[in-house]
Amino acid sequence: MSDPSPWAIEAEGLGKKYRGGWALRDCSFRLPAGHICALVGPNGAGKSTFLGTATRLVQPTTGTLKLFGVPVSDPAVLERIAFLAQDKPLYPRFTVAETLRLGRELNPRWDQALAERIVRSGNVPFTARIGTLSGGQRTRVAFALAFGKRPELLLLDEPMSDLDPLARHELSGLLMAEAAEHGTTVLMSSHMLSEMEVMCDYLLVLAEGRLRMAGQTEELVPAHLLVTGVAEGDDGVPEELRRRHTVIEARITGRQFSALIRPDGPVSDGWETLAPSMEEVLLGYLRSPDAPGLIADEARLDGPGEAAA
Ligand code: ADP
Repeated sequence: MSDPSPWAIEAEGLGKKYRGGWALRDCSFRLPAGHICALVGPNGAGKSTFLGTATRLVQPTTGTLKLFGVPVSDPAVLERIAFLAQDKPLYPRFTVAETLRLGRELNPRWDQALAERIVRSGNVPFTARIGTLSGGQRTRVAFALAFGKRPELLLLDEPMSDLDPLARHELSGLLMAEAAEHGTTVLMSSHMLSEMEVMCDYLLVLAEGRLRMAGQTEELVPAHLLVTGVAEGDDGVPEELRRRHTVIEARITGRQFSALIRPDGPVSDGWETLAPSMEEVLLGYLRSPDAPGLIADEARLDGPGEAAA
């Protein structure tokens, strides 16, 4: 029986400390079920560490993590999630058919028809050995294994990184279609920001182990503006901009300034404003790890919609 919890992920004070320092620190947020969520951050930001805590490969030093209301330490959680690691470990000597058979034997909720459909739609021969497949074909088989498990939460660590643009395009379409059809929650780390913009409706941004941004893209992105105008003051950024708004990132080019801001009121008439894309917002935060973070109300543990007991 499925848990009625509307939150696919709830992290509270989650942290992981290695000998070299904190890989993940005081991370608190929740992800409502049914979203496709991008996990974004520079290398070393803590993305894999977070995915590790959700898949029980990494034991947190502090805090708690619940998936669908169940603590991740409860073995029952494992049936409900699937994880696609970056290197997509599959047995190279197995054929595609044997790989799917293994999936069927290991997973009580296995959906053979779905797994076969994913393989077939890429014209991957069932008799081919995994070791002979191209990167795109191997990723497709790994997707088939992950979706065949019928997970409620699918965790993907840079799933498209070794694929050419055509295969990426095709597999991202497949991922969105399958997730929509089955109501699967997806959390996917990636560096491909423009692709994330097409696929994802929820964002988690990590920098230096800390959560910088969390919430629905349709809430977070429109909370920002790109502003340009004539430079002034010591560092070229108009004093009024810093005084009246939250400046995420500012640059000077010649006599012009341009800035990504979170407006805290109307913006001066003398400046030009543009609505940024998700990629522009993400780049601004990634380049400015010290900028004030933004956790949308719906991503806060004490946010609205707590009704489900
Ligand atoms: P990302 O996936 O965002 O690139 P990681 O989660 O892999 O980041 O790493 C976050 C930080 O934790 C890095 O500084 C990394 O060196 C460190 N780290 C990750 N795994 C280990 C480990 N097993 N032992 C020690 N340090 C680790």
